Amino acid sequence: MEHAEKDLPKAPRNVNCRFDEKLPSSYSRTQHNPHSLLYYGGSSSIWNKKKNYYWFSFICAYLFVWATMFRKSKTKPNGKKPPTEEKKLYLETEYTKVRVTDIDLKELVVLPREIDLNEWLASNTTTFFNLINLQYSTISEFCTGETCQAMSACNTQYYWNDERGKKTKCTAPQYVDFVMSLVQKLVTDDDIFPTKYGKEFPNSFESLVKKICRYLFHVLAHIYWAHFKETVALDLQGHLNTLYAHFIVFIREFNLVDPKETSIMDDLSEVLCSSSADAQNHVKER
Ligand SMILES: [Zn+2]
Repeated sequence: MEHAEKDLPKAPRNVNCRFDEKLPSSYSRTQHNPHSLLYYGGSSSIWNKKKNYYWFSFICAYLFVWATMFRKSKTKPNGKKPPTEEKKLYLETEYTKVRVTDIDLKELVVLPREIDLNEWLASNTTTFFNLINLQYSTISEFCTGETCQAMSACNTQYYWNDERGKKTKCTAPQYVDFVMSLVQKLVTDDDIFPTKYGKEFPNSFESLVKKICRYLFHVLAHIYWAHFKETVALDLQGHLNTLYAHFIVFIREFNLVDPKETSIMDDLSEVLCSSSADAQNHVKER
């Protein structure tokens, strides 16, 4: 709201003041204009009546502009209330403490000795794709073109970049469909995610894994932001929390997603990805 307050015009300190003392500075320029006599000069009663009339009109106009701007400052340009003021249900302790495993996630994501880094990234990325796809499918009937007209999470709106790199606005279910179709295509492409012994990973492999993880993060963030209530109704918050924490610990371990990208969910990440000792205390109250 900071910017909105800045936009507010400054109210006159005293509306009953003398014109020549308290008018906004821009008006003082009028004293060199012959018409300024209406405001500053003349002592006859007709001038005084006109003076009062103009002053009254000025006050009304000023208050109208002020009231309009103040009303606008309470809303976003599109007229909707800023969702920042909404409470984030998923941050409430009764939900954040629910997990489905007490495994130390950090230990789970570290590259095991003797395993090739790319193999490890490929295997984990494919698993996260399947799990996040499954998690989204549990609430997909509630994520429609009507309920989620834009792909949003924490006041951030995501646009899809089409094949020509053109940014396009789409609904959340369309966006998720684009993500899942693209990832499915990539992870099943033997030239990108090779499965045959001796076949090399392409040079673009790491950047593609980063791209996939970025998109999967958007899906998880959207589930929390727009469908947490439904997830709770299905009693799947423990699965979602565990999946999210595992995913965040994994992408942090291998620097797969820019922290600026994930910062919108830092409040949740801090709670869910805190020390494993905490996790063990919070586990499974289902
Ligand atoms: Zn949705």
